[in-house]
Amino acid sequence: MPEQHTLHDAFIDELRDVYDAERQILKALPKMIKTATADPLKMALEAHLRETETQVTRLEKAFRSLGETVRGKHCDGMAGILEEGKATMEEDFDEMTMDACLIAAGQRVEHYEMAAYGTLIAWAKALGHDEAVPLLEQNLNEEKAADEKLTAVAESGVNEQAAAGELEEDEENAPSTSRTSRSTKAQRVARRR
Ligand code: FE
Ligand code: ZN
Ligand code: FE
Repeated sequence: MPEQHTLHDAFIDELRDVYDAERQILKALPKMIKTATADPLKMALEAHLRETETQVTRLEKAFRSLGETVRGKHCDGMAGILEEGKATMEEDFDEMTMDACLIAAGQRVEHYEMAAYGTLIAWAKALGHDEAVPLLEQNLNEEKAADEKLTAVAESGVNEQAAAGELEEDEENAPSTSRTSRSTKAQRVARRR
């Protein structure tokens, strides 16, 4: 009878899972960036695309530090989250509502990643995989920052709209509606639902 698998095996499995998840995100982000309207949202997503490329590299370093083959294992969880995001992008939302939905989808991605890295860091510490720990912590910190950035983008929009409440009724007559104030309305529309 073969030996039962250990926490180390589970750790390597999870590492392969998150490696696959990051690569799925790399493929999904360009369409989200293209679909986004508000500049701060586009910029946040673009910045996180570049970070995600670095995260993939860090995971490859982690595999090598453990003497393991760099290999992904299909992450069903991330596939599901991204599938939902894709379905949202196919909906006929006005552009401001779409931005709000893209933020919602992005935050689901970040929270899923935060959960994965939290576990990986705890297990790496327990297993004494000292070289992997800081690499995983850097990824976790970037996911947390990305999540907070999305919250800030959402809230700055909502606050701005609240401060300029009349703009909404008179939108047609407004001399120029900036991208930011339009995305703001989306947040309110989304909140009312
Ligand atoms: Fe990531
Ligand atoms: Zn997974
Ligand atoms: Fe992320």
